[in-house]
Amino acid sequence: MEVFELLQKIQKTNTKFIVVTGGVCSSIGKGVLVASLGVLLKKAGYSLSVIKWDPYLNVDPGTMSPLVHGEVFVTSDGAETDLDLGHYERHIGLSLTRDSSVSSGQIYQEVLEGERSGRFLGKCIQMVPHVVNVTKRRLLEFALDHNVEFVLLEIGGTVGDMEGEVFLETVRQLRMELGSEHVMHAHLSFVPFLSWTGEVKTKPTQHSITELKRAGLAPDCLFLRADRQVDDQSVSKLSVMCEVKEDYIFQVLTNDPVYRVFLDLDAQGVGRKVQEHFRLVPPKSSDLSDWQNFIASIDQSKQQVSIGLIAKYVGSNDPYISVVEAIRSAAYHLKHRANVVVIEAEALEKGSYGANDAAWAQLKSLDGIVVPGGFDRRGAEGKILAARWARENQVPYLGLCLGMQMMIVEAARALLKLPDANSAEFEPDTKNPVIWIMEEQKGVTRKGATMRLGSYPCSLVEGTKAYEAYKKPVVNERHRHRYEVNNTYRSSLEQAGMVFSGVYRDKDLVEIAELKDHPFMLGVQFHPEFQSSPLAVHPLFDAFMQAVTKRKVSFDR
Ligand code: GLN
Repeated sequence: MEVFELLQKIQKTNTKFIVVTGGVCSSIGKGVLVASLGVLLKKAGYSLSVIKWDPYLNVDPGTMSPLVHGEVFVTSDGAETDLDLGHYERHIGLSLTRDSSVSSGQIYQEVLEGERSGRFLGKCIQMVPHVVNVTKRRLLEFALDHNVEFVLLEIGGTVGDMEGEVFLETVRQLRMELGSEHVMHAHLSFVPFLSWTGEVKTKPTQHSITELKRAGLAPDCLFLRADRQVDDQSVSKLSVMCEVKEDYIFQVLTNDPVYRVFLDLDAQGVGRKVQEHFRLVPPKSSDLSDWQNFIASIDQSKQQVSIGLIAKYVGSNDPYISVVEAIRSAAYHLKHRANVVVIEAEALEKGSYGANDAAWAQLKSLDGIVVPGGFDRRGAEGKILAARWARENQVPYLGLCLGMQMMIVEAARALLKLPDANSAEFEPDTKNPVIWIMEEQKGVTRKGATMRLGSYPCSLVEGTKAYEAYKKPVVNERHRHRYEVNNTYRSSLEQAGMVFSGVYRDKDLVEIAELKDHPFMLGVQFHPEFQSSPLAVHPLFDAFMQAVTKRKVSFDR
């Protein structure tokens, strides 16, 4: 369908777009703002979905370093997407699909494929209209397919980024074509506080608005990201300089836990103002009681547990954000606070097993160990050592994807007495590849989106810890891997005390492994963290945390 036809169709619907841009610098929490808007609107009874436009030229973040771009979040239909989609699923309670994650790379790919197949024959292909039209079409088709009252659109990056210009131009045109009754523009900007002068500074925000104006955009509302309350005088000044009415200027203050932002924005009347903008009368209020109760239970959580995350990437939680959130919320639900201790796996390799050097002293003090997913051999031996420590010392252990594979390698080395057991990913010539490449992965050479990705059913074995946690025979979990447990070793591992409690029946692939004589030593080939949320903790994280708190209580006695 042509873009103008899609526009006509949208005009006949009651779909409204809320576009969120960010100014001054990155990492100020656009994802949290979009999630907050989503929570407020959904809890007021509106239907909605979210789409994120990422300016980078990669087709998806699957090929980027998690240190640079953070975790790769996998949707149920197997798309490798930005970690913000995780925030949206967890907080708003949505289940998103690949069409929610659009990058400039995807847009240019579509334009160039169109050019090669003759779609634009005779034309000189340009940013406007061709690239903009492909972007616009994606958004309009998304809105029509999902048939929701609100589409929240986050534009990644910061205004002024060269890669983001096409997206801003698309929004400019959409506002003109659909009018303010269909489009609202919210801009999130950073307002720094200068400790040496004791005042907040509005200038960076003014500059970011100037950037927007250069692109032909003037936001309807302004969200000020600040560490402390921005005073009335500065808000008035911003209102004048940025041409945004004072009652459409809100503050997003630093909050711990971050979910308090939902309540804060609600108290500032954000939901009501959005409805006022779109002339939705009478305005509905948001029922945030479940978030209020959850935050109250966090406030009551006084006891601490230390959970080690045996990581390849240190310095930021972003590469493991869903795992960290799942651990924290599992603890909160048991009225505990989880102190997530990130231990560099390589540091464990450099120290000696069970010694008192810094990394080992940290490991020895833990109440529970989580080994997250990962690729490449760096740190793999350290993860295997952490699994050994957990097994030998009865410390609860949860292995996620690579974390399960390393638990199997450790068990093969120690229990089957196969010192050269390894994953073929790290030691292609090992005589005992207890983890090896999946059949369907053998001929794969291209890198992007070629792993075993997305949701697959896992059948559970009754009487196991996994079954006890899920309490049902079949579950669907999300995957992102190329290697798997080598079935040749299954029966000897079983004889040595391992239970394969979850299997993908169609291909007889191990999905869950657990140790019999251990309080909780369980690994999964999938990523349960992608389906855990603060209000609905994933059963395996819950079971792990129960084992952690139980062990801690018996120790503290
Ligand atoms: N590198 C391993 C594999 O590809 C594990 C992947 C992961 O942890 N997501 O199978």
